[in-house]
Amino acid sequence: MSAYHVKAFGTEAPEADLKQMDIERRETTPKDVEIEILYCGVCHSDLHTARNDWGGTIYPAVPGHEIVGRVTKVGREVTKFKAGDLAAVGCMVDSCMTCESCKNDLEQYCLNGFTGTYNGKDKHSGIQTFGGYSEKVVVDEHFVLKVPDNLDLPGVAPLLCAGITTWSPLRHWKVGKGSKVAVVGLGGLGHMALKLAHALEAEVTLFSRTPGKAEDAKRLGADHVIISTEDAQMQSVKGKFDVIIDTVPYVHDVNPYVATLHHSGTLVLVGYLGDLTPMLNSAPMVIGRKAVAGSLIGGIAETQEMLDFCGEHHIVSDIEIIKMQDINKAYERMLKSDVKYRFVIDMASLKYKS
Ligand code: NAP
Ligand code: ZN
Repeated sequence: MSAYHVKAFGTEAPEADLKQMDIERRETTPKDVEIEILYCGVCHSDLHTARNDWGGTIYPAVPGHEIVGRVTKVGREVTKFKAGDLAAVGCMVDSCMTCESCKNDLEQYCLNGFTGTYNGKDKHSGIQTFGGYSEKVVVDEHFVLKVPDNLDLPGVAPLLCAGITTWSPLRHWKVGKGSKVAVVGLGGLGHMALKLAHALEAEVTLFSRTPGKAEDAKRLGADHVIISTEDAQMQSVKGKFDVIIDTVPYVHDVNPYVATLHHSGTLVLVGYLGDLTPMLNSAPMVIGRKAVAGSLIGGIAETQEMLDFCGEHHIVSDIEIIKMQDINKAYERMLKSDVKYRFVIDMASLKYKS
C-alpha cells in the first residue's frame, strides 16, 4: 500500500540513544484520520520499550502513545472528524473489532490482540507501528478520541495513557463518594490517580518512598500521605483501603500493601509486569477475601468518558514541556523520579535542527 515519510525520533537498539529518523505512514484509507501531532506525553512504557525491558521490541522503535494534535485529512467514510478538529490517540490504533471483548468496548482485551500505537503490527502495511514521537500519525477513526476544547492541550496528552490507565480500575472497582483509595508511587500514573480519585470524591492516600512529595501530593488530591519505608506509618493504615492502585514500574514487595487493604479490598497492579519477589502470601487474601488484580489501559469508549469527565472537572496532567531533542535526558530524569509529573514533548521542536 502507498505510504509517505515523516520525521520521527526513535532508537535502533536497547542501549542506543533516541535520535532523529524518517519513518513511513500509510496513506489515509477511507476510514482513517491523519493527525498532525502537536504534543506527545512521555510514559514510562516508552522507556521500557526503547530499552527492551519487556523483550520483543522491534527496532527501529518510535515510542509515544499520549498523542494530541489537529486533524489534517480524513478518509471519505470518516464521520466523527473533519480537518481542523482537535484529536487524540492513546495506546491502541486497531483491534479485531469482532471478538466479544471488542464488541463490549474492551478493545484493550481484544481476544485477537489489539494493535499497539507503537511496536504493534500495522494491519494495513504489515510493518511495525511507530508512535507519537513524530510529525503525523494515521489512525482508524474508531481509535481517535475527541478532546474537550476547554482544557490546556499539552496537559491533555498524558490523559491518553496515564489518565485512562488509572481511570479504568477506579471505575471497574466502583470508586465513588467515601471510597477509601490508595495510590502507590507518585509519578505520571500516580499523580493522575490522585486527581481522578479525588474528583470521584474518594478519600485518597498516597504511598510514596519520597518524603519531599507530600506537599505536592496534597495539592494533587491526596488527603493523606504515607511514607512506605516507615513501618509505623504503614501500621497506621492497616486494614484501611477498599482499592489500591499500584503504579510502581519495577519489582517490589506487594505484601505490605495487601496488609493495608480492608477485607474484600483489591490491590490493582498497573505498573510492574512479571513475577513478584518476594512472593505473594495468600493467607491475608484468604482470611480477608482480599484480591490482587491487574488492569491494562482502558477501552475507547471508557477513554472518551474519562476525557469528557476531565473536561467537566477541569482536570489535566501536571507537566514539564520538553523539546524532542531532550528526550534522552528526560528518560534519565524519569528513572530518578525527577519529573513533576509528566514530560510532554512539544512536537514543533521536531522541525528544529538536532
Ligand atoms: P513514573 O512516572 O516513572 O512513576 C513511577 C513511580 O513509582 C515513581 O515516581 C516512584 O514514586 C515509584 N517508583 C519508581 N521506582 C520504584 C521502585 N523501584 N520501588 C518503588 N517505587 C518506585 O512511571 P509511570 O509513567 O507512572 O508508569 C508507571 C508504570 O506503569 C510503568 O511500569 C509503566 O510501564 C506502566 N504502565 C502501565 C499501563 C497499563 O496499562 N497497565 C499503562 C501505562 C503505564 P515515589 O517516588 O512516589 O515512590
Ligand atoms: Zn503509557
